[in-house]
Amino acid sequence: MAREVGIVCGRTSQGLTIIESIARVMLYFGPAGYPEGSKSPIDALETVHRLGLNALEVQFVRQARMEERKARSFGGRAEELGILLSAHAPYYINFNSANRTTVNKSVEWILRTARIADQMGAWVIVFHAASYSGKSPRRATNAVIRGLQRCKELMDEEGLNSKLGLETMGKKGTWGTLPEIGEVVKVVEGVIPVVDFGHIHARSDGLFGSVADFHEIIDEVEAIDDDHMHCHFSCIEYTDAGEKRHLPLAAKDPDFSFLAEVLVGIHRDATVISETPLLEKDALRMKSMVGSI
Ligand SMILES: [Zn+2]
Repeated sequence: MAREVGIVCGRTSQGLTIIESIARVMLYFGPAGYPEGSKSPIDALETVHRLGLNALEVQFVRQARMEERKARSFGGRAEELGILLSAHAPYYINFNSANRTTVNKSVEWILRTARIADQMGAWVIVFHAASYSGKSPRRATNAVIRGLQRCKELMDEEGLNSKLGLETMGKKGTWGTLPEIGEVVKVVEGVIPVVDFGHIHARSDGLFGSVADFHEIIDEVEAIDDDHMHCHFSCIEYTDAGEKRHLPLAAKDPDFSFLAEVLVGIHRDATVISETPLLEKDALRMKSMVGSI
């Protein structure tokens, strides 16, 4: 989905001239994982495309493994179809673990995902960085910084350029509020915030109740990083501890129509990955809700 956002004109001796071409904002919508019934990764891409979607977050949440030849042909087909790829790294990552082996493995899991992401052309690797593990938020933030600095060093040595996307987390015991993520982005190059609206909603006891609430968070994200905004959306059930489970868009908690209004006026590219139980079906609903405003 592309949208024109304006023309800037200037006066020269020849008269009025367009001094900046039309800026196009691209919006991408797609599922977290292969659509239901996909027979193969390539078939998943064909389905995403046939449905009229243009993004896919490939799930390496249990293990980061894909043969190089397959990753390259998958990436090639995605490019032909105009599908923007992202990759989700394993769930087991915890840079703040008291167990040294887990910290070292966390670096390895990021690196493995980064290699596949590079082969398939996924521009960002999304991951859950840490638990508080009984330590203070400050110490956890420092542990995440150290872990990601190590990842970046190793990625640079191998020429791996995907962005590292820190996801906002939905459980109160899990590291990953927007301000915490902002601290890391300031220090480690190549790290970006990944906004999971359902998680923020769950963690803050139902923050999103209006268009203005979404605006406020998106402004906060923009203050951290003003490039392509990568986000996850799902409705969500929550308790005092935060996230309990993801729900379909029809649950309207939070209501996607508020976010849709913000996306219509956004001045930078953005991807919305559907993480509801109805993945691609709800991704399509999100796209049509934005398109119909
Ligand atoms: Zn995630």
